[in-house]
Amino acid sequence: MDITVVIPLLNEDESLSELEAWIRRVMQKHGFSYEVLMVDDGSTDNSWKVIQGLTELNPNVKGIKFRRNYGKAAALHTGFQDAQGDVVITMDADLQDSPDEIPELYRMIMEDGYDLVSGWKKERHDPLSKTIPTKLYNGVTRLMTGIKLNDMNCGLKAYKNELVKTIEVYGEMHRYIPVIAKWAGFKNIGEKVVQHQARKFGVTKFGSLARFIRGPLDLLSIVFVGRFGKRPMHFFGSIGSIMFVVGFGLFFYLGASKLWSLYNGVVAKNIADISWFYLALTSMLIGTMLFCTGFLAEMVSRNSPHRNAYLIETKIGIKENNHAHH
Ligand code: UDP
Ligand code: MG
Repeated sequence: MDITVVIPLLNEDESLSELEAWIRRVMQKHGFSYEVLMVDDGSTDNSWKVIQGLTELNPNVKGIKFRRNYGKAAALHTGFQDAQGDVVITMDADLQDSPDEIPELYRMIMEDGYDLVSGWKKERHDPLSKTIPTKLYNGVTRLMTGIKLNDMNCGLKAYKNELVKTIEVYGEMHRYIPVIAKWAGFKNIGEKVVQHQARKFGVTKFGSLARFIRGPLDLLSIVFVGRFGKRPMHFFGSIGSIMFVVGFGLFFYLGASKLWSLYNGVVAKNIADISWFYLALTSMLIGTMLFCTGFLAEMVSRNSPHRNAYLIETKIGIKENNHAHH
């Protein structure tokens, strides 16, 4: 199979028929073998009914229905698990992304050798309350991750099948799939300017809580886990020991100068009356706490079932066994 289109959706019943017809037109025109995986993320409108109808109309359409709303990342992850196409394309259900982009995205993965191609809504048809925060977001993410994408969180993206089977997306992490892919070792990440329309029906499904608070927290988690997930002590331990040493050094200095004044018979301040004392105290305490946190984190990570799950790209001459990997 050439292409799997994964469509996460929450209450989008008005758009689905039009979207399916459009995708079908494009696929037929280019002679792709394909499937469309519609993942209903706990809709409360008629989305699932519409999907059922579409599966009868077009055998290439498949549906997955969540019992409740788990979020876009979960819907994508579930679609990824079932995707059979060589190239997996994700697309929003609200007709903001254009299926006409599919052939070129497919070509970029298959011929230009990209692992992931992210859409770039260069000309965006959304309110300012979305476009300005997004600019900020993309800037911060670029700085934190070194991935040079203009539009990290575009719903329209294309992936090599292998990539989507390797990565794990949850929470608000659909915003940072390129970052996750990079940490998983997929380096060829490209970008394509794509058409973008204003939302035709319904309203946005993301509130500011998701965009401004949960999103950034998930970025921190991704960067932290990517870097230190398998060696947390290096993170906590290094900050902890620096703080401890600084605190201890300050104490030593305060103590030594007090002794020195005593020795010379000079009247000196009580150590506890010098403000540096409190800095030294806090620094040593926090340092010790970070160190202990590091030990705890090591113990947790050592007991994780994934502790030795390294992402292997290929093997030669080794029979596949049932060691856990994903
Ligand atoms: N979506 C989803 N689960 C959610 C929220 C959104 O599956 O909890 C889907 C939504 O139906 C749409 C896509 O994710 O297909 C993008 O959402 P939306 O268009 O509301 O986001 P925006 O374009 O406003 O950023
Ligand atoms: Mg949208």
